[in-house]
Amino acid sequence: MELINDLPADAVISFYKQGTFTDLCRGPHLPSTGKIKAFKLTSLTGAYWRGNEKNKMLTRIYGTAFEKKSQLDEYLVAAEEAKKRDHNKLGRDLGIFMTSDVVGQGLPILMPKGAKILQILTRFVEDEEAKRGFMITKTPNMAKSDLYKISGHWAHYRDKMFILGEVDEHGESPKGEEIMALRPMTCPFQYQIFKNGLKSYRDLPCRYSETATEFRKEASGEMHGLIRIRQFTLSDGHIICTKEQVEEEFKRCLDLSYYILDALGMRDDVTFRFSKRGKSKSDKYIDNDEAWNNTEAMMKVILDDLKLEYVEADDEAAFYGPKLDVQIKNVYGKEDTLITIQIDFAAGESFDMQYVDVDGVKRHPYVIHRSSIGCYERTLAFLIEKYAGAFPLWMCPTQVKILPITDRALSFAKSVAEKLTYEGIRTEVDSRNEKIGYKIREAKLEKVPYVLVVGDKEAEENTVNVNKRGVEEKENLSVEDFVARVKDEDAKKIIF
Ligand SMILES: [Zn+2]
Repeated sequence: MELINDLPADAVISFYKQGTFTDLCRGPHLPSTGKIKAFKLTSLTGAYWRGNEKNKMLTRIYGTAFEKKSQLDEYLVAAEEAKKRDHNKLGRDLGIFMTSDVVGQGLPILMPKGAKILQILTRFVEDEEAKRGFMITKTPNMAKSDLYKISGHWAHYRDKMFILGEVDEHGESPKGEEIMALRPMTCPFQYQIFKNGLKSYRDLPCRYSETATEFRKEASGEMHGLIRIRQFTLSDGHIICTKEQVEEEFKRCLDLSYYILDALGMRDDVTFRFSKRGKSKSDKYIDNDEAWNNTEAMMKVILDDLKLEYVEADDEAAFYGPKLDVQIKNVYGKEDTLITIQIDFAAGESFDMQYVDVDGVKRHPYVIHRSSIGCYERTLAFLIEKYAGAFPLWMCPTQVKILPITDRALSFAKSVAEKLTYEGIRTEVDSRNEKIGYKIREAKLEKVPYVLVVGDKEAEENTVNVNKRGVEEKENLSVEDFVARVKDEDAKKIIF
């Protein structure tokens, strides 16, 4: 009755019947439960009526059904496999991240291993961006509402922002106080850098990049592990260029993303989505039909020229322009955006960015918003699921673990570790007084790429007994040869 009372007077109310059971339901139901040949109840949870904790707790029963028993069995095996790879469980089990009730939902805490992986990825991305002509910036995490009013965020995106101070429904302070907000993106900050001093066409393109901390107020039901969170680190960047440079710059952005996806071993896991305003007239978009049509057409030419296979999606654009979204699915098949490249027709004018063109006339530039590796936390989530924790050597927090067989070999183990560490190889020694078999099993569970076993014989010959992850045979190598091999695999970002 409560649900019906909330419906508009002219709404169609439907019921479906199954034997003696009558269901208030949008439908459809199966014509007969006899059609279900195989089913399984998968879980039971408590849920507050209409998601409000002041209401009664109800029991929610989850189940799944198939036409054949074999399909059900196949599904259950796949679901079990997915659960093992679910980053939200595995990432915690491996000590990569945690959450804490007193810190809050959607605010994952990266533990030493997770923080190390992020540091490795960040350095890789920042160095690669520098090679490709990006200038690094460091801009504030918050700004006055004035900035977001110019950018359009205050009008189009305020619901998703963390605002510091009290505002009314128009986004103004009732007491006339200065209102600040945590930033949801870096663009308007980097535009200030562009505007600092007169620019000429010779200065373009201006490529700015930043490893930026950003904030978005995701709804509590939306948050998930490291994929949907309220504070994240984005490889954010903006290219400010002439209209004629957009195509070339766009292609360079995609090339950078390909390079990074290759290094992560994820190039084959992604699909492309051309996200347009399309026919949507929603007021979440900047109102300028001509600019929308032109920019969407411009992006289509670029994508077709690149011979990219993509799906078109209406009503998925940014509020200032169309996007190319690089999409990826998690272990449960849910799709999210990993990387995005966007063309912005509006910022040049709204921020009054200008450059002096060849003919001496001042013009507004175009802006390309782009990320290169995407949001680091989200990318880490997909890496955990892809590799089930067995990360490629180059991004492993610990690349080599050295296990002395007895205490007599401990000083040799430590001297090898020192050499490896000096060569930039991330190395640990397991010096615990445990049986060697136990230590080997534990190191394997941690999925360390190389486990070195050393005893009296190795100490005498200055060699190491090499156990490579996923390889049955062991190998004896001199310390020098081992160092050379690991450095080579690390530099080439070999994935095994
Ligand atoms: Zn941006």
